[in-house]
Amino acid sequence: MIPVFEFRPRPHTDGIIVHDSHSGPAESTVDWLRVQGRSQGLLEVGYHFVLGRDEEVHRTRDHRAMGAHCPGWNHRYIGVCLLAGEHHAPTEGQLDKLLSLVSYLEREYGHALPLKGHSEVQTIRNRRCPCVDMEQLRQRYKEFAVNQPDVKTPPPAEALSPQNQIVLAYLQRRGPLTNLLALTVIGIGSLSKRIAELVALGYPIVKEQGEGFPGNRYVRYSWGGEVVEGSAAWEQAKQALVDQSKRKREAILGEVA
Ligand SMILES: [Zn+2]
Repeated sequence: MIPVFEFRPRPHTDGIIVHDSHSGPAESTVDWLRVQGRSQGLLEVGYHFVLGRDEEVHRTRDHRAMGAHCPGWNHRYIGVCLLAGEHHAPTEGQLDKLLSLVSYLEREYGHALPLKGHSEVQTIRNRRCPCVDMEQLRQRYKEFAVNQPDVKTPPPAEALSPQNQIVLAYLQRRGPLTNLLALTVIGIGSLSKRIAELVALGYPIVKEQGEGFPGNRYVRYSWGGEVVEGSAAWEQAKQALVDQSKRKREAILGEVA
């Protein structure tokens, strides 16, 4: 859940700084981090992403905004935090999710985002952060990135046709799209063609078959990166389909009567 606060946009994005939460099993939650942040005077968690013990990516701040995780580096680096500590090592699943997240962000920015450990850039700290071997993590990412099926870097959104920009922005910021939703909400009548173009350019978009009202099959497209915000649009699309089917049925029944 993204907080409603507006943070200043970050002017540059050079890489990613990895942290841990210095926590034990009882505290390793996003809520705990939030309380910690507030006690330090932060409006919200200072990291952009948190890798939870549930092995999911939690987005705690818009990644295009300034973070508050590493003084002197916040204007150039994205901050990610593993919920882990010195005596509470991150799980393999958490580390895997971190690698997927890095890959997602590199695609979005269209360039490499080198990984740095917090204490690698702030050497005056007396505690090692994060509690993982950064050399090993970078090596692991190198191997992971090679095995990614699609390493094509998509062009920046500004280079797309206006219609494709609308579709892309919707998928990334609002949620999944169906043909019906595209037509009614954003006025795009040729969604599958738009999607095919975006996929060919290297944007990670997932196609799924869904079923709303019994027997009413449809296709939905969603952003295939690691981070998809909310599903309000998806619920809206489902409801629209249900309503449409109901109206059709009522119309038919009306004719019969
Ligand atoms: Zn740190």
